Amino acid sequence: MRLNLEETLGILERASKIIITSHENPDGDAIGSSLALARYLTRIGKDAVIMIDDEISSRFKVLPGSEEIVAPEEGGRYSADLLVVLDASLDRVGKVTEVVSAPILNIDHHPTNDGSAERFYLDGERAATAEIVYQLLEMAEAEFDKDMAMALYTGLATDTGFFRFSNTTPLTMRAAAHMLEAGAEPHVISESLEQRPYSHVKGLADAMQHIELWHGGRAAGVFLSYEVMESIDATDGLIDMLRVIEGVDIAVVMKYKEAGKARVSMRSKGVDVSKVALQFGGGGHVKAAGCGIEKPFDEAKAMLQKVIDEALAPTDTEEVSGKNREEK
Ligand code: 5GP
Ligand code: MN
Repeated sequence: MRLNLEETLGILERASKIIITSHENPDGDAIGSSLALARYLTRIGKDAVIMIDDEISSRFKVLPGSEEIVAPEEGGRYSADLLVVLDASLDRVGKVTEVVSAPILNIDHHPTNDGSAERFYLDGERAATAEIVYQLLEMAEAEFDKDMAMALYTGLATDTGFFRFSNTTPLTMRAAAHMLEAGAEPHVISESLEQRPYSHVKGLADAMQHIELWHGGRAAGVFLSYEVMESIDATDGLIDMLRVIEGVDIAVVMKYKEAGKARVSMRSKGVDVSKVALQFGGGGHVKAAGCGIEKPFDEAKAMLQKVIDEALAPTDTEEVSGKNREEK
C-alpha cells in the first residue's frame, strides 16, 4: 500500500523496537537518512538500531553515530516491531530482509522503486531520502540537533552533487539552510568525504587508462574486467570524470569486484539511463542509475553497449532532423 507522509509518520510513532536499514554500498544519503531517523526515534524513546549489510566507509566517521551501525551477524536472526528500509527497494538491502522478522516500511525517492514493500512511501521528486526524512521530522515537529543536522545535510549534499544536479529544488536548499541553522558544518562534511587513500587516487589513474568513446562520441565508458580490477583499489569518482566529456550524453563504468558479477554505474545529461538499468534488473533516476549484470566481461560489455546504443538512437534521429531543418 502506498502511504502518505502522515501515515508514514504514524507507523513510525506506533512502533517501539525499530531496525533501520539501507542499500549495500551505502552512500551519504543511505547513511545520513538512517542516522537522522535513528537519532530522532531514539530521542523520543524508541529502541532504534541501524543494520546495513555492508562495510561503512571510514569517510563517514565524521557523522556521529556512524560507528554504531551494525552488520547482520553470520547466522544471526533478529526481530523488531518494524523494519524501515530507506533509500532502496527491498531487493537492494542484502540479507537484512531475510534475517529480520518484522513488518516492513519502505521510504524511498527512486522513481524505479518496484513498490514491492507492503507499505511504502515513495516521492520521486525529492532529491534525497534525507529530504523525505526531513519532511517527516518537520511534520513531527522534531527539534533538529547537530548530529541530525550533520546527517541530513550529508544526504542532501551527496545526492545532489553538493547542490549542483537538476534534482536540487528550493525545498532542498531550504532544508539544507535549516540544517546549517541547526549546526551542520558543510566544510567539515565535504573535507571528510573528499579524503581518500593514495591507493584509491592511483586506482583512478589506472582505471582511466581504459576509457573509451563510442556511438559517435555520445557514449563514454570504462569497462574493467575482474583481472584488471585485481590491481585497482577503488573507482570512486570515476564516473564523474567521464560525465564531463564534451559531447558525451551517457557515461558508464562497468567493473567486476567479484568474478562473473559486473556492477554498472551510469550518468546522463538527459537520456533516461534508469530505463537502461531496468533492462538489467537495476534502477535509479533519469540521470543516474545502476545495475548488476551476472555475465562474463565480453558478453556483459556488449549487452550494455547495445542497450545504451538503443537508448541514444531516438535522439540521433532528432539531431539529424534538426540539422536538416537548419540546412533547408
Ligand atoms: P551509483 O552509480 O551512484 O551507484 O548509483 C546511481 C543511482 O542508481 C543511485 O540512485 C542508485 O541508488 C541507483 N542504483 C545503482 N545501482 C542500482 C541497482 O542495482 N538497482 C537499483 N534499483 N538502483 C540502483
Ligand atoms: Mn538517495
